[in-house]
Amino acid sequence: MRLAVIGTGYVGLVSGVCFSDLGNDVVCVDKLENKVDMLLQGISPIYEPGLEELIHKNKEQGRLNFTTNLAEAVQKSEIIIIAVGTPSLPNGQANLSFIEDAAKEIGQSLNNFKIIVTKSTVPVGTNEKIKQIISKYSQFPFEIASVPEFLREGTAVQDTLHPDRIIIGATSDYAKEKLIKLHSPLSENILVTDIRSAEMIKYASNAFLATKISFINEIANICEKVGADITQVASGMGYDKRIGSSFLKAGIGYGGSCFPKDTQALIQIAGQMDYDFKLLKSVVEVNHEQRFNIIRKLEALLGDLSERTIAIWGLSFKPETDDVRDAPAFEIINALLQRGAKVRAYDPIATENFKKCFTREEVQYCLGAQEAAVQADALCILTEWSEFKNISPEMIESWLTEPNLIDGRNIYSQEDLAKTKLNYYSIGRPNLN
Ligand code: NAD
Repeated sequence: MRLAVIGTGYVGLVSGVCFSDLGNDVVCVDKLENKVDMLLQGISPIYEPGLEELIHKNKEQGRLNFTTNLAEAVQKSEIIIIAVGTPSLPNGQANLSFIEDAAKEIGQSLNNFKIIVTKSTVPVGTNEKIKQIISKYSQFPFEIASVPEFLREGTAVQDTLHPDRIIIGATSDYAKEKLIKLHSPLSENILVTDIRSAEMIKYASNAFLATKISFINEIANICEKVGADITQVASGMGYDKRIGSSFLKAGIGYGGSCFPKDTQALIQIAGQMDYDFKLLKSVVEVNHEQRFNIIRKLEALLGDLSERTIAIWGLSFKPETDDVRDAPAFEIINALLQRGAKVRAYDPIATENFKKCFTREEVQYCLGAQEAAVQADALCILTEWSEFKNISPEMIESWLTEPNLIDGRNIYSQEDLAKTKLNYYSIGRPNLN
């Protein structure tokens, strides 16, 4: 099939590349010229394992192209996939301006019948708005469909090629059949729904996962008070098939470009219908509070943080990605600087992105984990990169001036730490030393 994908971010680029790998003829469109230039040279503008190899392969085989010319891409294609960003407005609602602009441009470009699919996460009713906008600018017939995306950054290629399920929200039989055919090489689990339900499935799924995270984090906080160990508790809970073991890892809370904005957007969607989504509001509040556990633990160990040197390992919101959007590191580092601490930070991949977004200049960015930790008064682990897991606690002990390790992601076992004299504070587990 001939596809145009609008937006070459984490979703659009990965989807476009994977669809081309399945043998489709794909052109990916972005309005950022520098992104398109990089892609035309075979360089991925985002870090995503396995992506660059697939870009090379499919470009060489002539199935994958990149352009800033949306009209031309639309005109050559039978299916148009919208994958532009839907960030939060200050009030938490989804900002639909990129969607609306893309819909207008698509409307202005149509030259014959197309299926227009929204992959971006959009509030219920948005696909109907997209239809209205396109109709305003075009006389050509078209169908709309909602196919929300569930990939995770860091494993986006694998998730796209092997998704748990595909949701197709469509009305006409033609669009349903065509989209089932497009997606059937990816999964047997294809659920066809109405458009509004498809839009809601995406928000409900993310809100549920965020709820699981905040739930286990609150259980972890209680574990600390009653002397239980969250790792054992979560493991015992996870064997229950009704609960499942995923998303039961206690830590300093979720971040990233999806959970924070999608939970806020769903609270707003409900609020606009006079429904007070109390549970989800608490999930968001618990998540925010959880980040500051790092500061509380540091203060419990060091007292006043002023003039203390604090090493930070991990700036991305999770491992295997360079995405720093809404990463806990922003608020934690800000809180440290406010208390007069000196911060030395290291991330294997995300430092450049973090620097672009974090405007305070006091942070010293390091080129390696050791450089950040040497002669620090404490080390805080904010992201569970495997590089950190492979550094022994004994090594960390030898680098630090004072033996204080705050593990915000529980990457070390209590047994490993027991061999050292490190003061080890993790999340939901007994403190050591
Ligand atoms: P992103 O910000 O990384 O990328 C969006 C891209 O769209 C940018 O490169 C931007 O330049 C481009 N763009 C915007 N308007 C355009 C236009 N009119 N024409 C051409 N290009 C345009 O966004 P993302 O992280 O890929 O997310 C996209 C959508 O998918 C969002 O709604 C998000 O909620 C959803 N989603 C994201 C993830 C994820 O893990 N990132 C997972 C599932 C769903």
